[in-house]
Amino acid sequence: MKSYRQVLHFQFPTRRGLENITRKVQQTIDESGVREGLVLVNAMNITASVFINDDESGLHNDYEVWLEKLAPEKPYSQYAHNGFEDNADAHLKRTIMGREVVVAITQGKLDFGTWEQIFYFEFDGKRDKRVLIKIIGE
Ligand code: ZN
Repeated sequence: MKSYRQVLHFQFPTRRGLENITRKVQQTIDESGVREGLVLVNAMNITASVFINDDESGLHNDYEVWLEKLAPEKPYSQYAHNGFEDNADAHLKRTIMGREVVVAITQGKLDFGTWEQIFYFEFDGKRDKRVLIKIIGE
């Protein structure tokens, strides 16, 4: 069995943002040489998520609106976590949207359902963040 590890770096200029990272994950699978196996993709920061859904801008806006209803960024004083930091909402949003995805690799390709794409979701940007890609298989 082979294993392969890669780290992606992100630095968003805004507090929140979404990036489709499907191509970067497939590129890493290509580099690994694994044809049959599994790929794990996880955010290495507790204020960012990796998730799978549709690459559709209306839906992405709906996420922003929905997450702001569930865990509004402001007022900062509403959260016990804030004080030294102001990112309690980012921790909560990350919990809702999840830490990682695992996708099957079949014949060297991401074995997706219809419309599935992998996204990085930043909730507390303007700093260096990392995503781990770990591939196992043969
Ligand atoms: Zn914090």
